[in-house]
Amino acid sequence: MPLPLRGLSAIVTGAGRGLGRAEALELARLGAAVVVNDLGRPGRDGSGEASAGPAEEVAAEIRAAGGTAVAHTGDVSDFEQARELVGLAVAAYGRLDVLVNNAGILRDRMVFSMSEEEWDSVVRVHLKGHFNTTRFAAAHWRERSKRAGRPVFGRIVNTSSEAFLAGSAGQPNYAAAKGGIVGLTTSTALALAKYGVTANAICPRARTRMTEDVFAGVGRPAAGGPDPLAPEHVAPLVGYLASPAAAHVNGQLLVVHGGMVAVVERPRVAAVFDTKQDTFTYDELDAVLGPYYADRPAGETFAAAEVLGLKRG
Ligand code: NAD
Repeated sequence: MPLPLRGLSAIVTGAGRGLGRAEALELARLGAAVVVNDLGRPGRDGSGEASAGPAEEVAAEIRAAGGTAVAHTGDVSDFEQARELVGLAVAAYGRLDVLVNNAGILRDRMVFSMSEEEWDSVVRVHLKGHFNTTRFAAAHWRERSKRAGRPVFGRIVNTSSEAFLAGSAGQPNYAAAKGGIVGLTTSTALALAKYGVTANAICPRARTRMTEDVFAGVGRPAAGGPDPLAPEHVAPLVGYLASPAAAHVNGQLLVVHGGMVAVVERPRVAAVFDTKQDTFTYDELDAVLGPYYADRPAGETFAAAEVLGLKRG
């Protein structure tokens, strides 16, 4: 069987550890030549000195397994470093085919205590980081498509979170950034379809540096069994979405972990109250929305993971 990503080039951001590392290894195993990006700061909150170590170690691991990889030590939240990252893929492999946006940090705090810096840094790394790389990859695909006079091939896989779907009280910055990433994904999917490019987002769950305390003791395997929260269970979906086989999957949101993938539909209208008069008064709204929400616990209209039936183990 030919490898599904043979001949393709891919960038994976934040690939020095955790999910990004597993995704870079999987894309390489499926035949892609990979640019392994990571900033290499030691803290999961983005603190500490940048280091080339994590990106270089994963690139070396791919090459040792017979694959093709180069490392890029850089900050995806910096516009110019994102330009350089896309430029490196084009310089190294002749063109870019796949962009996996994965890099992220955590600065958790309740909304009433959160500092401006905690808000800005998380929104910057996740949301602006996704935009920056997408901006340069999209320009690359548009230009190639215009030159060729036909659609080319491009794939974007973004990383959202169930913290956006379910809400997460102690993560206002993170949940907002992850929601923004879904909006960015939909917009990008619509804008780039005519160039042959798809954009989708995943909500992964995995035991990594980012979640070691959240998932401590959750879903631990029976002795010797596979860990359902291993990052390796998320990576194959990224490989699939990056492949030519997924040409018809665009603008989608998928929850994935431990051998399970769930398709999340767009929010749908649950109820309509229409005065048929093209206008509303306060009293009319109170008369319809009051009874409607009275029986519903706050937040129920949001598609929480539990509401989606995804609570496992
Ligand atoms: P992780 O901390 O293990 O890995 C994140 C990587 O991103 C690190 O190697 C870090 O150095 C890198 N990074 C951080 N800031 C960067 C920047 N500005 N530029 C380049 N690289 C940068 O975390 P993880 O769990 O593997 O998370 C990967 C992605 O998955 C994140 O976007 C995270 O929000 C998302 N996610 C993870 C889970 C989970 O259960 N682990 C759940 C939902 C979403």
